[in-house]
Amino acid sequence: MNMDLPTFWYLTVGTLVIATAMTLWERQAHGERAVPLGIWAASYVVFAIGCVFAMKRDAFPGVTGAALTNILFVLAYLMVLQGVRCLDGKARIAWPAALLIAVAAIWAIAGEPYPVHVWTYVASLPIALACILTAIALSRSRAVRELRSRPVAIAVFFGHGVFYLLRGTVAPLLVAFYGESLLPVLAEVTMYEAVLFTVAMPMALMALIREEYQAQLLAVSRTDFLTGLRNRQGFFELGARALRDGATQRPVSLLAFDLDHFKAINDRYGHDAGDAVLKLFATVARDIARADGIIGRLGGEEFAILLPGQDSTAASRIGEAVARGFAERAARSDGLKLTATVSIGLAEAASNTTALAELLSAADLALYKAKALGRNRIQVAGAKTVSEAA
Ligand code: GH3
Ligand code: MG
Ligand code: MG
Repeated sequence: MNMDLPTFWYLTVGTLVIATAMTLWERQAHGERAVPLGIWAASYVVFAIGCVFAMKRDAFPGVTGAALTNILFVLAYLMVLQGVRCLDGKARIAWPAALLIAVAAIWAIAGEPYPVHVWTYVASLPIALACILTAIALSRSRAVRELRSRPVAIAVFFGHGVFYLLRGTVAPLLVAFYGESLLPVLAEVTMYEAVLFTVAMPMALMALIREEYQAQLLAVSRTDFLTGLRNRQGFFELGARALRDGATQRPVSLLAFDLDHFKAINDRYGHDAGDAVLKLFATVARDIARADGIIGRLGGEEFAILLPGQDSTAASRIGEAVARGFAERAARSDGLKLTATVSIGLAEAASNTTALAELLSAADLALYKAKALGRNRIQVAGAKTVSEAA
């Protein structure tokens, strides 16, 4: 392999400039991640300045150029790490500053007597440390835990960290064994890897931010804005999955709720009061059924609770508790103090293959019956008997 080192340095600087521009561009679209994206963009600038210093280091007196280059690179890696930590709101200043001072001290003490050793080997170790800590921070981060690109980002930083660890520990042994003719090869391999890293690192970090944003959009698309419950889409997605996964975990029941005379509540107390009643119902349903079931607002004043593992007797008890809790709290809640009731249809899955849509339409039929029979009650699908809910 015959490589021209300056070309590699220029290539790296170019890559970093593009990465900076792309990261700043992306930053405009992700206001909530403006801080880490800003730190990363700034770190790429520091990397690029470090590369320029590296190319021109011989123009400085003694080892000053090499020392400044190394300090700039370590600073850039530490900035990347702090950007990652910012994702969980945990950036640190004290120990990174101490590490930078330590690097400067090593150059001040050992730089002149051992310029090649410090530049080629020792200078790699704080870089290895920062990269491995970045990989650890990514693996511990709650913010990126669910993201597909997280293992990729961890691999990029861990791989780069291990490369620099080997450069600082194994390379000196190889050079001692094979002689100094290995040094130029080492420099070429290092530069080649640096080009790859300056492409992979910004891509991996950008992917984290974009995926996090996509995940948030997806969560919003499954959530009802007013009540914070799952919306119809979210309810059907999770409910269908629960039915599929729990094929052996039967019985399964479904409660369909429709608030009684809700239009009259809106007309009499105003739309805001109507909204407050909907939120109250959601709170009560969550308090009572969150542990057992999947709750959704299917639309307007219609809600559903899917109860895997519950037969119709247990589900009926839960439905009655929700109806009672809702009526009681509507009657005494500050700002409401109104009469609000709910009608409920209850269906239990007939077989292991009953689909969610089927179960819901059975519960809906029962709900219509509960309405027809005078409201404020629970009606079991296919049952003749009717029980008062509240
Ligand atoms: P029933 O007992 O037969 O169910 O009568 P109802 O009045 O509850 O049923 P209807 O379907 O006639 O009215 C539902 C009302 O719910 C009409 C609509 O304006 C209101 N509504 C739907 N979504 C919202 C909302 O997000 N906020 C408020 N405040 N009202 C809503
Ligand atoms: Mg309705
Ligand atoms: Mg209604």
